[in-house]
Amino acid sequence: MPHDHNDSQAPGTISPSGHPYRPDDDRPLTYWQNMEIAVRELLVEKGYITALQIQNQIDTMDARSPTNGANVVARAWTDPEFKAALMNDAAQATRDMGFDIGPMHLIAVENSDMVHNVVVCTLCSCYPRNLLGLPPDWYKSRAYRSRAVIEPRKVLTEFGLVLSENVQVRVHDSTADMRYIVIPSQPEASKGLPVPDLVKWVTRDSMIGVGKAHAPT
Ligand code: FE
Repeated sequence: MPHDHNDSQAPGTISPSGHPYRPDDDRPLTYWQNMEIAVRELLVEKGYITALQIQNQIDTMDARSPTNGANVVARAWTDPEFKAALMNDAAQATRDMGFDIGPMHLIAVENSDMVHNVVVCTLCSCYPRNLLGLPPDWYKSRAYRSRAVIEPRKVLTEFGLVLSENVQVRVHDSTADMRYIVIPSQPEASKGLPVPDLVKWVTRDSMIGVGKAHAPT
């Protein structure tokens, strides 16, 4: 299928062939990238979907950020009824807040003085994107994916998180249809603050489990 990528086009514009322009990174396309382009162009050509709809969906995905998850955590810290619902069925509880994970399962795991939870996807990069946005590069790296399950304490130390020996570390392996979010322990100094302030204490890393919630810097 002919292509008309044009380096002079600005990102975000639609090419004459009907698919969104992507900056050329000068690497040959992989089999799956070629497949994606072919299927996308075919769907546009046959009129099943428009290029603008695709671009709008990409924009929606790009707009998701860890602030979504931080709102969930801050509410769990302050609303026992919501927290109970979240621990029971995180997909439904967060859907009720407007963060729809689709058909996937979502499990909330809570950190405490005795238990510390960490999330990984050993196979690829499964991540609760609806709550945390795009995963950081290190989350997708082979080193994190393999070492997080083999030597989690050592990995956490490298993130600057040193846990005492009496804290049990639990590593959760995400899958294509099962995602996790860590509910970090609420720092003492944040107790009593209103939710909009609490949100600023909840970092992305604390919801993956490689960091703790802390005062905004
Ligand atoms: Fe994955």
